[in-house]
Amino acid sequence: MLRGWCFCENHGLEYCHSCAMDFRIGNNYRLQDNMTEEQLESLADQGIDLPDDDRRPLCVDGVYKLLPCGTAACVAHSAVGCERCFNFERRVMDD
Ligand SMILES: [Zn+2]
Ligand SMILES: [Zn+2]
Repeated sequence: MLRGWCFCENHGLEYCHSCAMDFRIGNNYRLQDNMTEEQLESLADQGIDLPDDDRRPLCVDGVYKLLPCGTAACVAHSAVGCERCFNFERRVMDD
């Protein structure tokens, strides 16, 4: 889990053939669940669609590393829960 987003453990994929896992639905659900009414309205005003369950899956392979304590940190800044590297909300919305 990276900032609450789920990926397969072996390959860092949101949608993984090898592991037969698809976390997109759960991740999308969580994204919408965390948004306020105003945020949802402003997206609608801007004509931005909410990500659907068939969107391009995210991949975090090589983006994060596990610290000795087992917590994930980004490779670029060694930051746990890095806002820049783990800004998945923005990435799925921009897609
Ligand atoms: Zn996998
Ligand atoms: Zn980072």
